[in-house]
Amino acid sequence: MKEITQKTPPQFKSDPTAEIIRRIVHPLWARRTHPTYARYLHEFEGNQYLHPDELQKLQMQRLRQQLVHAYKYVPFYRLRMAEAGMTPLDVQTHKDLAQLPVLTKRDIQDHGDLLVSSNIPASKRVQNQTGGSTGSPLQFYVDKERCDSRMASTERHNSWAGLRAGDWYAHLWGSRFDVGDKPNPNPAWRQKLLYRDLTLHTACVSEEAMLEYVGVLRRYRPRYMLAYAQSAVLFAEFCRNNNISDIAFESMIVSAEMLLPGKRALLEKTFGGRVFNRYGCREVSVIASECEFHTGLHVNADALLVEVEPVPNLPSGMGRVLITDLLNRSMPLIRYEIGDLASLNTPLHCQCGRSLPLIGNIEGRTSDFLELPNGRMIAGPSLALLAADMREVRQVQFIQPDPQHVTLKVVAGTGYSALTEQELRRRMQPYLEGHTSLTIVTSDSIPSEPSGKYRFVKKGDNAVAIDTVAQ
Ligand SMILES: [Zn+2]
Repeated sequence: MKEITQKTPPQFKSDPTAEIIRRIVHPLWARRTHPTYARYLHEFEGNQYLHPDELQKLQMQRLRQQLVHAYKYVPFYRLRMAEAGMTPLDVQTHKDLAQLPVLTKRDIQDHGDLLVSSNIPASKRVQNQTGGSTGSPLQFYVDKERCDSRMASTERHNSWAGLRAGDWYAHLWGSRFDVGDKPNPNPAWRQKLLYRDLTLHTACVSEEAMLEYVGVLRRYRPRYMLAYAQSAVLFAEFCRNNNISDIAFESMIVSAEMLLPGKRALLEKTFGGRVFNRYGCREVSVIASECEFHTGLHVNADALLVEVEPVPNLPSGMGRVLITDLLNRSMPLIRYEIGDLASLNTPLHCQCGRSLPLIGNIEGRTSDFLELPNGRMIAGPSLALLAADMREVRQVQFIQPDPQHVTLKVVAGTGYSALTEQELRRRMQPYLEGHTSLTIVTSDSIPSEPSGKYRFVKKGDNAVAIDTVAQ
């Protein structure tokens, strides 16, 4: 490997072009390609400081409009509401919405056609899909106007971390749907004069690719990073292991994967700036983000309604996340069970003065949980944390073909030995309650899913297949 260290202190280039793009190029481009973007951005910028009662009134009004639309034009919901013995008029408060059963991924797979609105022409919508990281790929429609409002929400939430249109940013993104198949170390004119994202495709990242990326970052010196959490962590570890100390960011927005507590500190120590946790998904875009006070995640509440509902069998203090998109008409998602779990402990106030409500930590995906023979569930990410302080362990993943057996796959760090395995067993066994056997295997690496997301737990048939590959 060639010499890659550089000890000069990190410096950001001053960039007068960013202001020109922000004020002139980007608005002109947006006016042509996303005609309602500017209107939504203006509205959303104002909404974040509305009086809480006003914001709730706006949210309720949008919810009722969405329910009436779904009742009139979407066969699936008309049937669902009829079965539940309700009409949109029965929903006067947020709590009344609980009368409507949740919308599962299975519902969308089985009844996709019935979920499409009959009054929105195909020319006014675009098709989108999830990568299927949980084994459930989904196709859905988004209004073209909703694409504009999603872009406006993202711009508002990015601005809390200081990132605005026109700024260069490092883009460590795992999803091929978003960033294409190849890394883009040499941006074309569109990159330079409009998007300004320096993309590293992290779904199948290699040391060579990271090294190339270091070169790109040194050339452009972006102040911001937008990244899959685990991708950012891998890149930070790569920089530390190779004594690369001159890559720095003012802010790092991490999304798409869980951010474990120790990893936030690692990123901040490695790159110097602050980490802004974000929760979002392909189906509805940005769901909630941290502001500059990092009190919790402010919900994108003028576009979405987020419920965190307690469910039996989950560890106490956690609930499943249900999302209602208040603005997308061509295929409304109402009480959509996205497969994530969030803390029920919600911070009430944030010093920033924004009235957008807060949600607590995202505790992981439903699929991130180990299941014991007695039905108890254990959060994979919490279990992974038990090894967080062990230098001999670089990465872990749990493979669970059935409730009686768990294999812990470990990427060994320096000094890994039989004693390390003994210590891992000592720490993990109490959680498995003696009913589930624990096997420990080492592996050179634990790749992310094709979607680019990292999974803490693999279960069922999928787990067997993966485990066989690992042998
Ligand atoms: Zn805040």
